Amino acid sequence: MSELLIIGSERSEAGIPAAMEILRRGGSALEAVERGLILCEDNLADHYVGTGGLPNARGEVELDASIMVGSSRAFGAVGAVKNFPNPISIARAVMEKLPQHALLVGQGAEDFADSLGFKRAELLTPEAKALWLQQLKDVPVESIEGENTKAMTGDLRYRLAAIELVKKFAPHEGPWGTINIIARDRTGEIVCGVSTSGYPYKHPGRVGDSSIPGAGNYADIRYGAAACTGRGELSLRGGTARTVVENMRHGMSAEDACFEALKEARNLPDDFRAELRCLAITADGHHGGAAGMEGSTYTLMTESSTQPEFRPRKALL
Ligand code: ASP
Repeated sequence: MSELLIIGSERSEAGIPAAMEILRRGGSALEAVERGLILCEDNLADHYVGTGGLPNARGEVELDASIMVGSSRAFGAVGAVKNFPNPISIARAVMEKLPQHALLVGQGAEDFADSLGFKRAELLTPEAKALWLQQLKDVPVESIEGENTKAMTGDLRYRLAAIELVKKFAPHEGPWGTINIIARDRTGEIVCGVSTSGYPYKHPGRVGDSSIPGAGNYADIRYGAAACTGRGELSLRGGTARTVVENMRHGMSAEDACFEALKEARNLPDDFRAELRCLAITADGHHGGAAGMEGSTYTLMTESSTQPEFRPRKALL
């Protein structure tokens, strides 16, 4: 019998208590992670996940999510999905009902969700739209009129300008980022789930690390599980979640494994560098996290917790 454990990234506390309740009642880590992330996706105050997520450069909310089971390394994911509020459930359905595939994107993922009767919804809330418009207003027009966009007209010019914009945006003030939840159930199964609306102002169709095994999500019951938030292109290029798990395989603590993996990603050349964070649990239930900056935390609940606790992540700087 394993000790129950759930950890999550910043703002996962919207879903972790309900997820722990599922584990306490003997439910599976898979059930717990999905439920926890659904609650986060439905949290309208959260602008980085699900309904209320900040939109792409065209003003459309596009969601990425994935789920991975540690014992089988079964993996399901969706990318760039519009109009479905709970991409984590579609990701789980890809894993369970379409095992010949692991990742569906865009229209195909939406058709798949329709075929299973998932409910559609408007994801762009008035508050998220206002935030999106506000940041657009804050960028002086001349700053999107780069040399390469001047000669273009129409939609092509729009797309190039959107790319110029993406380079300029830092995350808005306040809590930001993808949500990760990792759970271990009574049987010792470890499941890792990730859900995000991705970088605001991203190029339409951009899929980040949250949908990609080894980048934003990885779980292997023999060594542990890890997940990332922040600059997804860095964890895509660095294979960061898998690197964390490999580090734990070679005996590092969860915290050191995260720290070393982030150090490796930090060495990659990247003009658009933004902070990358990760968190992990080891196969025997130790946990830890790392971040680019001081002050960031991860959330924890054990069997005896009455409420979510917050633990510091080790900072790179
Ligand atoms: N990792 C996410 C992505 O690249 C963004 C974030 O966590 O802020 O889409």
